[in-house]
Amino acid sequence: VLFYQPQLNLNTGEIQSVEALIRWRHPRRGLLPPVEFIPLAEESGRITDIGRWVVMAACRQLAAWKGTPHEGLRIAVNLSGRELDDEDMVDHIREALAAENVPANRLEVELTEEIFIQNIEHNLNQLSRLHQLGVHLAIDDFGVGYSSLGYLRDFPVDLLKIDRSFITEVTERHDDAVITRAVINLAHNLGIEVVAEGVEDEVTANLLRDMGCDMIQGYLLTPPLPFDEMMDWLDKNHQQPDQRKLG
Ligand code: C2E
Ligand code: CA
Ligand code: CA
Repeated sequence: VLFYQPQLNLNTGEIQSVEALIRWRHPRRGLLPPVEFIPLAEESGRITDIGRWVVMAACRQLAAWKGTPHEGLRIAVNLSGRELDDEDMVDHIREALAAENVPANRLEVELTEEIFIQNIEHNLNQLSRLHQLGVHLAIDDFGVGYSSLGYLRDFPVDLLKIDRSFITEVTERHDDAVITRAVINLAHNLGIEVVAEGVEDEVTANLLRDMGCDMIQGYLLTPPLPFDEMMDWLDKNHQQPDQRKLG
Protein backbone atom coordinates (compact mmCIF):
# COMPACT_ATOMS: atom_id res chain seq x y z
CA VAL A 1 0.00 0.00 0.00
CA LEU A 2 1.04 3.60 -0.49
CA PHE A 3 1.15 6.11 2.33
CA TYR A 4 1.39 9.79 1.50
CA GLN A 5 3.32 12.69 3.03
CA PRO A 6 2.65 16.29 1.95
CA GLN A 7 5.21 18.94 1.06
CA LEU A 8 4.41 22.50 2.12
CA ASN A 9 5.45 25.47 -0.01
CA LEU A 10 6.86 27.99 2.50
CA ASN A 11 6.19 30.96 0.22
CA THR A 12 2.57 30.30 -0.64
CA GLY A 13 1.42 28.10 2.26
CA GLU A 14 0.11 25.64 -0.32
CA ILE A 15 0.57 21.91 -0.58
CA GLN A 16 1.84 21.34 -4.10
CA SER A 17 2.94 17.80 -3.86
CA VAL A 18 2.58 14.60 -1.84
CA GLU A 19 5.22 11.88 -1.71
CA ALA A 20 4.07 8.28 -2.05
CA LEU A 21 5.90 6.01 0.41
CA ILE A 22 5.38 2.29 0.11
CA ARG A 23 4.51 -0.12 2.97
CA TRP A 24 3.73 -3.80 2.98
CA ARG A 25 0.65 -4.94 4.88
CA HIS A 26 1.98 -8.30 5.95
CA PRO A 27 -0.63 -10.83 7.13
CA ARG A 28 1.34 -11.76 10.26
CA ARG A 29 4.00 -9.12 10.78
CA GLY A 30 1.76 -6.08 10.33
CA LEU A 31 2.69 -2.93 8.47
CA LEU A 32 6.28 -3.22 7.21
CA PRO A 33 8.37 -0.13 6.32
CA PRO A 34 10.25 -0.10 3.00
CA VAL A 35 13.61 -0.80 4.63
CA GLU A 36 12.29 -4.31 5.47
CA PHE A 37 11.57 -5.32 1.89
CA ILE A 38 12.87 -2.85 -0.72
CA PRO A 39 16.53 -3.97 -0.45
CA LEU A 40 15.38 -7.60 -0.85
CA ALA A 41 13.21 -6.68 -3.80
CA GLU A 42 16.19 -4.94 -5.39
CA GLU A 43 18.32 -8.04 -4.96
CA SER A 44 15.72 -10.41 -6.34
CA GLY A 45 14.66 -8.15 -9.21
CA ARG A 46 11.07 -7.90 -7.98
CA ILE A 47 11.64 -4.17 -7.58
CA THR A 48 10.77 -3.68 -11.26
CA ASP A 49 7.23 -4.95 -10.68
CA ILE A 50 6.91 -2.98 -7.47
CA GLY A 51 8.02 0.22 -9.18
CA ARG A 52 5.54 -0.33 -11.99
CA TRP A 53 2.76 -0.86 -9.51
CA VAL A 54 3.71 2.35 -7.64
CA VAL A 55 3.69 4.41 -10.85
CA MET A 56 0.34 2.94 -11.92
CA ALA A 57 -1.19 3.56 -8.50
CA ALA A 58 0.05 7.16 -8.52
CA CYS A 59 -1.34 7.79 -12.01
CA ARG A 60 -4.68 6.27 -11.06
CA GLN A 61 -4.82 8.57 -8.07
CA LEU A 62 -3.94 11.62 -10.14
CA ALA A 63 -6.72 10.70 -12.56
CA ALA A 64 -9.22 10.34 -9.72
CA TRP A 65 -8.45 13.91 -8.61
CA LYS A 66 -9.50 15.37 -11.95
CA GLY A 67 -12.32 17.83 -11.55
CA THR A 68 -11.82 18.00 -7.78
CA PRO A 69 -10.05 20.73 -5.75
CA HIS A 70 -7.04 18.39 -5.59
CA GLU A 71 -6.48 18.50 -9.31
CA GLY A 72 -3.38 20.71 -9.00
CA LEU A 73 -1.56 18.29 -6.69
CA ARG A 74 1.52 16.45 -7.83
CA ILE A 75 2.49 12.94 -6.65
CA ALA A 76 6.15 12.10 -6.10
CA VAL A 77 7.26 8.47 -6.37
CA ASN A 78 10.58 6.94 -5.35
CA LEU A 79 12.52 4.91 -7.89
CA SER A 80 15.66 2.99 -7.04
CA GLY A 81 18.73 2.65 -9.27
CA ARG A 82 17.76 -0.90 -10.17
CA GLU A 83 14.54 0.41 -11.66
CA LEU A 84 16.36 2.84 -13.89
CA ASP A 85 18.38 -0.08 -15.32
CA ASP A 86 15.14 -1.30 -16.87
CA GLU A 87 15.12 -0.08 -20.46
CA ASP A 88 11.32 -0.18 -20.55
CA MET A 89 10.84 1.99 -17.47
CA VAL A 90 10.36 5.27 -19.33
CA ASP A 91 7.94 3.64 -21.78
CA HIS A 92 6.04 2.19 -18.88
CA ILE A 93 5.71 5.58 -17.21
CA ARG A 94 4.59 7.13 -20.49
CA GLU A 95 1.97 4.39 -20.93
CA ALA A 96 0.73 4.71 -17.36
CA LEU A 97 0.25 8.47 -17.78
CA ALA A 98 -1.46 8.00 -21.14
CA ALA A 99 -3.72 5.20 -19.87
CA GLU A 100 -5.04 7.49 -17.13
CA ASN A 101 -4.87 10.61 -19.29
CA VAL A 102 -2.75 12.43 -16.72
CA PRO A 103 -0.40 15.31 -17.68
CA ALA A 104 3.21 14.26 -17.14
CA ASN A 105 4.02 17.30 -15.01
CA ARG A 106 1.70 15.96 -12.28
CA LEU A 107 4.16 13.14 -11.66
CA GLU A 108 7.49 13.60 -9.93
CA VAL A 109 10.22 10.97 -9.78
CA GLU A 110 12.64 10.98 -6.83
CA LEU A 111 16.03 9.43 -7.40
CA THR A 112 18.97 9.15 -5.04
CA GLU A 113 22.38 10.57 -5.87
CA GLU A 114 23.99 7.23 -6.74
CA ILE A 115 21.88 7.14 -9.89
CA PHE A 116 23.63 10.26 -11.10
CA ILE A 117 27.04 8.72 -10.52
CA GLN A 118 26.69 5.10 -11.64
CA ASN A 119 26.31 4.14 -15.27
CA ILE A 120 26.19 7.80 -16.22
CA GLU A 121 25.64 7.47 -19.93
CA HIS A 122 22.74 5.06 -19.62
CA ASN A 123 21.11 6.93 -16.77
CA LEU A 124 21.54 10.33 -18.40
CA ASN A 125 19.73 8.92 -21.39
CA GLN A 126 16.89 7.52 -19.26
CA LEU A 127 16.51 10.75 -17.29
CA SER A 128 16.58 12.89 -20.41
CA ARG A 129 13.77 10.77 -21.84
CA LEU A 130 11.79 11.19 -18.62
CA HIS A 131 12.43 14.92 -18.69
CA GLN A 132 11.24 15.11 -22.30
CA LEU A 133 8.04 13.40 -21.25
CA GLY A 134 7.52 16.31 -18.89
CA VAL A 135 7.89 14.33 -15.65
CA HIS A 136 9.49 16.30 -12.79
CA LEU A 137 12.82 14.99 -11.56
CA ALA A 138 13.97 15.30 -7.95
CA ILE A 139 17.26 14.31 -6.33
CA ASP A 140 16.51 12.59 -3.03
CA ASP A 141 18.74 12.53 0.07
CA PHE A 142 20.93 15.27 -1.36
CA GLY A 143 24.30 15.71 0.30
CA VAL A 144 24.92 12.26 1.76
CA GLY A 145 25.86 10.35 -1.37
CA TYR A 146 28.69 11.48 -3.55
CA SER A 147 29.73 15.06 -3.78
CA SER A 148 30.00 15.23 -7.54
CA LEU A 149 28.30 18.46 -8.47
CA GLY A 150 28.79 17.91 -12.17
CA TYR A 151 25.50 16.08 -12.44
CA LEU A 152 23.60 19.16 -11.31
CA ARG A 153 24.92 20.71 -14.48
CA ASP A 154 24.49 17.71 -16.77
CA PHE A 155 21.16 16.23 -15.65
CA PRO A 156 17.78 17.93 -16.11
CA VAL A 157 16.89 18.26 -12.41
CA ASP A 158 13.85 20.25 -11.17
CA LEU A 159 14.06 19.69 -7.44
CA LEU A 160 16.61 18.87 -4.81
CA LYS A 161 15.69 17.33 -1.45
CA ILE A 162 18.20 18.12 1.29
CA ASP A 163 18.77 15.00 3.38
CA ARG A 164 17.23 14.86 6.84
CA SER A 165 20.67 14.43 8.46
CA PHE A 166 21.46 18.10 7.67
CA ILE A 167 18.06 19.34 8.83
CA THR A 168 17.57 17.57 12.18
CA GLU A 169 20.01 19.83 14.05
CA VAL A 170 20.18 22.74 11.65
CA THR A 171 19.03 25.20 14.33
CA GLU A 172 21.81 24.13 16.73
CA ARG A 173 24.72 23.19 14.51
CA HIS A 174 26.54 25.96 12.71
CA ASP A 175 28.05 23.57 10.13
CA ASP A 176 24.67 22.10 9.19
CA ALA A 177 23.28 25.60 8.80
CA VAL A 178 26.19 26.65 6.57
CA ILE A 179 25.79 23.57 4.37
CA THR A 180 22.01 23.93 4.14
CA ARG A 181 22.25 27.61 3.23
CA ALA A 182 24.92 26.90 0.61
CA VAL A 183 22.91 24.06 -0.96
CA ILE A 184 19.82 26.29 -1.17
CA ASN A 185 21.81 29.06 -2.87
CA LEU A 186 23.57 26.65 -5.20
CA ALA A 187 20.28 25.09 -6.27
CA HIS A 188 18.52 28.42 -6.75
CA ASN A 189 21.34 29.77 -8.87
CA LEU A 190 20.93 26.72 -11.10
CA GLY A 191 17.16 27.22 -11.29
CA ILE A 192 16.43 24.21 -9.06
CA GLU A 193 13.86 24.27 -6.24
CA VAL A 194 14.68 22.95 -2.77
CA VAL A 195 12.78 20.78 -0.27
CA ALA A 196 14.06 20.21 3.27
CA GLU A 197 13.28 16.67 4.50
CA GLY A 198 12.56 15.65 8.07
CA VAL A 199 11.38 18.99 9.45
CA GLU A 200 9.98 18.23 12.90
CA ASP A 201 9.51 21.61 14.59
CA GLU A 202 8.43 25.19 13.97
CA VAL A 203 11.83 26.72 14.80
CA THR A 204 13.45 24.68 12.04
CA ALA A 205 10.71 25.61 9.58
CA ASN A 206 11.18 29.30 10.34
CA LEU A 207 14.95 29.11 9.92
CA LEU A 208 14.53 27.30 6.59
CA ARG A 209 12.07 29.95 5.45
CA ASP A 210 14.61 32.66 6.34
CA MET A 211 17.22 30.76 4.35
CA GLY A 212 14.98 30.86 1.29
CA CYS A 213 14.12 27.15 1.26
CA ASP A 214 11.11 26.60 -1.01
CA MET A 215 9.41 23.64 0.64
CA ILE A 216 9.41 21.50 3.77
CA GLN A 217 8.34 17.95 4.46
CA GLY A 218 8.30 16.16 7.80
CA TYR A 219 6.55 15.26 11.02
CA LEU A 220 5.89 18.97 11.77
CA LEU A 221 3.20 18.75 9.10
CA THR A 222 2.33 15.07 9.47
CA PRO A 223 3.95 11.63 9.25
CA PRO A 224 3.08 9.69 6.09
CA LEU A 225 -0.63 8.78 6.20
CA PRO A 226 -2.89 6.23 4.51
CA PHE A 227 -4.69 7.78 1.56
CA ASP A 228 -8.01 8.63 3.24
CA GLU A 229 -6.34 10.15 6.28
CA MET A 230 -4.07 12.21 4.06
CA MET A 231 -7.09 13.58 2.22
CA ASP A 232 -8.77 14.48 5.53
CA TRP A 233 -5.54 16.16 6.62
CA LEU A 234 -5.41 18.18 3.39
CA ASP A 235 -9.03 19.26 3.71
CA LYS A 236 -8.51 20.40 7.30
CA ASN A 237 -5.11 22.00 7.01
CA HIS A 238 -4.24 23.32 3.65
CA GLN A 239 -5.36 24.84 0.46
CA GLN A 240 -4.06 23.35 -2.73
CA PRO A 241 -2.62 25.23 -5.66
CA ASP A 242 -4.92 26.69 -8.22
CA GLN A 243 -4.55 24.58 -11.34
CA ARG A 244 -4.79 27.65 -13.57
CA LYS A 245 -1.84 29.35 -11.89
CA LEU A 246 0.39 26.30 -12.26
CA GLY A 247 0.01 25.78 -15.97
P1 C2E B 1 12.95 8.72 1.57
O1 C2E B 1 12.48 8.80 0.17
O2 C2E B 1 14.09 9.58 1.96
O3 C2E B 1 11.67 9.00 2.47
C1 C2E B 1 11.69 9.76 3.64
C2 C2E B 1 11.61 8.87 4.85
O4 C2E B 1 11.69 9.69 6.03
C3 C2E B 1 10.30 8.12 4.97
O5 C2E B 1 10.59 6.86 5.56
C4 C2E B 1 9.48 8.99 5.93
O6 C2E B 1 8.51 8.27 6.64
C5 C2E B 1 10.56 9.50 6.85
N1 C2E B 1 10.22 10.82 7.43
C6 C2E B 1 9.44 11.77 6.90
N2 C2E B 1 9.40 12.86 7.70
C7 C2E B 1 10.19 12.59 8.76
C8 C2E B 1 10.54 13.33 9.94
O7 C2E B 1 10.13 14.47 10.16
N3 C2E B 1 11.39 12.71 10.81
C9 C2E B 1 11.86 11.46 10.60
N4 C2E B 1 12.67 10.93 11.51
N5 C2E B 1 11.54 10.73 9.50
C10 C2E B 1 10.71 11.29 8.60
P2 C2E B 1 10.00 5.50 4.98
O8 C2E B 1 8.59 5.71 4.54
O9 C2E B 1 10.30 4.43 5.94
O10 C2E B 1 10.84 5.28 3.65
C11 C2E B 1 12.20 4.97 3.69
C12 C2E B 1 12.81 4.93 2.32
O11 C2E B 1 12.29 3.85 1.53
C13 C2E B 1 12.50 6.17 1.50
O12 C2E B 1 13.37 7.20 1.91
C14 C2E B 1 12.75 5.68 0.09
O13 C2E B 1 14.10 5.76 -0.25
C15 C2E B 1 12.35 4.22 0.17
N6 C2E B 1 11.03 4.05 -0.47
C16 C2E B 1 9.80 4.39 -0.01
N7 C2E B 1 8.83 4.08 -0.90
C17 C2E B 1 9.47 3.55 -1.97
C18 C2E B 1 9.03 3.03 -3.24
O14 C2E B 1 7.82 3.04 -3.60
N8 C2E B 1 9.99 2.55 -4.09
C19 C2E B 1 11.31 2.56 -3.76
N9 C2E B 1 12.21 2.08 -4.65
N10 C2E B 1 11.77 3.05 -2.59
C20 C2E B 1 10.86 3.52 -1.69
CA1 CA C 1 11.94 10.21 -1.32
CA1 CA D 1 14.90 11.40 1.23
